[in-house]
Amino acid sequence: MHASLPALSIRGLVKHYGGLMAVDILDLEVPAGQIYALLGPNGAGKTTTLRMVAGLARPDAGTVQLFGVDVIADPIGAKQMLAWLPDEPLLYDKLTPAEYLAFIAGLWRVPAAVASVRAEALLSRLGLWDRRDVRCEGFSRGMKQKVALAGALIHEPRLLILDEPLTGLDAAAARQVKDMLLERVASGGTVILTTHILEVAERIAQRIGIIRAGRLIVEGSMAELAAGRDAGTTLEDLFLELAA
Ligand code: ATP
Repeated sequence: MHASLPALSIRGLVKHYGGLMAVDILDLEVPAGQIYALLGPNGAGKTTTLRMVAGLARPDAGTVQLFGVDVIADPIGAKQMLAWLPDEPLLYDKLTPAEYLAFIAGLWRVPAAVASVRAEALLSRLGLWDRRDVRCEGFSRGMKQKVALAGALIHEPRLLILDEPLTGLDAAAARQVKDMLLERVASGGTVILTTHILEVAERIAQRIGIIRAGRLIVEGSMAELAAGRDAGTTLEDLFLELAA
């Protein structure tokens, strides 16, 4: 596979629900090896778009390719490169973090010995190693979110998609997750995330795309987006001007 292929390439993507165009002829390209923040007001179509990327919703029109692999023509090939972490992840509550990660790793056919090394590293990193054998049912929302994140990373996907990954996390956990995302990218991975926390996007994303009413209205690095504006223009200033 060619190294310069974009991690994600979306062309003419459409999804409607009844008369509502949730995604309206969307074009979007995410280069490999970066953190890309997809921003937009409530109801802009971010989750709907990412659900189609992850193969969880079928487009009404358009194409989605992951590293050149079409998600409709080759859904299994595409899914193997991807991990998707929804904003309200479902965990199997009766499982412990160790069992959950072993289970998810098994689905991806990660050898058990490799999976257990990765699970230890991920759970230690996320401060959950001492809870590895405790059932998730009693965990707080943030702890469950961290277990779900570990599950998303256990097969070392080339592309990690996270819908609002920092909501509900305390400051220390949010820092851990941000650091982990930066490390994924430093080691060649690609991360796409949605967030309403604009400071996070400004700080960790190399590229930022803003969608409104199902269309991409502006895209670029923070420097590109702020070009020609007052010094000190923040992403919040831009967002409120362009998208709200
Ligand atoms: P938020 O920031 O609030 O999470 P979003 O940008 O992720 O918003 P979406 O969840 O993609 O927005 O929703 C886009 C539009 O599509 C909204 O008007 C929403 O009501 C509609 N929509 C999404 N899923 C469905 C569905 N399953 N059935 C009907 N309408 C839907």
